[in-house]
Formats: sequence, structure tokens, C-alpha cells
Amino acid sequence: MSKQLSSQYIKWFIETENELSKFFKLFSPLCSECFLHTNSQSENGERKNRQFWCCCLIDNQIHDHWESLNTIQKRFSIQWYKKLNKDTVKKKRMPGNGPCPALGKSGCLIKKCRPVTCSTQVCEKMLYILNKAGIIKCDVNRPQQIEEIVDVPDILHILYGTKNRKVITEQDVFKYRNVLNQLKAKLSEIPKKTLTSLIKESLGVYPEKGGCKK
Ligand code: SF4
Ligand code: SF4
Repeated sequence: MSKQLSSQYIKWFIETENELSKFFKLFSPLCSECFLHTNSQSENGERKNRQFWCCCLIDNQIHDHWESLNTIQKRFSIQWYKKLNKDTVKKKRMPGNGPCPALGKSGCLIKKCRPVTCSTQVCEKMLYILNKAGIIKCDVNRPQQIEEIVDVPDILHILYGTKNRKVITEQDVFKYRNVLNQLKAKLSEIPKKTLTSLIKESLGVYPEKGGCKK
């Protein structure tokens, strides 16, 4: 991959990542409520179903994807990891090698080029809401990547440099965003009251899962 092409890929990645972030924000305030649930469970010493706890509190995506992440983040700031550590929510060790060092008081401290899985993972609660609202039909008992639930081209790993299978064109990127926009439009159509009920229901179905990932 040429240096010029790589820069273009990163630009496309950031633009697509921003669109994904807007999609996840449409579930708000699900993530913040989730985070509170997890903290409360953890502080009360409850360990039942802890595999369902908050992704950012129990995952360590920074170190799981260190090599590719560090390569990209160093393009923006050589001190990126050091800066992160200043604002990290310092918590006791959690199950699953968490918390993620990029977890800050208001969510993720990495504003661009997070690990791909962070940008594309749709958790069980979100899947529950999308299914209940009749937007998609899929298994809701495990988190899924967005390309597993809607027909978006699998471009993000290639843009990020973790897969090198084919050349990505602007059309591929447009196609990705078009499919995502359709999904966003459907999610936006859920009346506020219905969404509030679905959020509450999802927290009841997966009571011990929470976080502040998105
Ligand atoms: S979203 Fe941010 S805080 Fe959460 S796991 Fe990914 S990098 Fe870590
Ligand atoms: S598990 Fe993570 S992504 Fe899912 S609702 Fe909770 S905070 Fe948001």
C-alpha cells in the first residue's frame, strides 16, 4: 500500500467511523445506563453473569489490538498512550483483562481510529432493540459486528491496515455509508417513548451487562 493510498484509507476510515458513532448515539442513553449498572454490580461484589458486564470495563481492546492501533495512533501523536493514561478511569482490575485504558469519565478517550471492533460491534442490548423494533432479525444472544447484521462491504479492516486483500474504492465506502444511513433512518423513526421502553426492557433482559463504550 503506498503512503498516499494509506492516508486516503485512514481518511475514509475516520469518516466511516464518525458515521458509525452517530449510529450508536441513536441508542442513547442506553450506554450510560449500562455503565451505571455495571459499576453498581461491581461495587456490590456481584459476580453473576459477569461475562455480560460492560465491554469497556471488562475488555482491553487497546492491548488486544496494540500493534495496529499503535501504528495508526502514532501518526496523530507520538505521546498518544501517555496522554490517554492521564485521563483514564482508574479502576480495580475487572474480569476479562479490563478496564480498557482508553475508558475515560465521559466514554472512550480515543476520538479517531479506535480498534475496528470497537467501532463495529453491536452489543446484545442494541441487537435486542433492533430486533424488537422490527429493524433486523438476528441472534441477540451474542454481540455481532455490523457487517454480520446488515449488508455492508467488509472494508474497515482493510482501511485500517489489518487486512490487505483488495483495493478499496470510493464506491465501496459510499456503499457502506448508504447501508448505514438506511439503518440510522430506521432507528431514528422509533418514537422516543418506544425507544425508552425498549432500552429499559433490554437492561432487564441483560441486567448485568453495561458500559460506556460508544
Ligand atoms: S471503545 Fe474505547 S474505551 Fe471502549 S474498548 Fe474500545 S478503545 Fe477501549
Ligand atoms: S454493552 Fe457497551 S455498547 Fe452495549 S449498551 Fe452497554 S455500553 Fe453500550
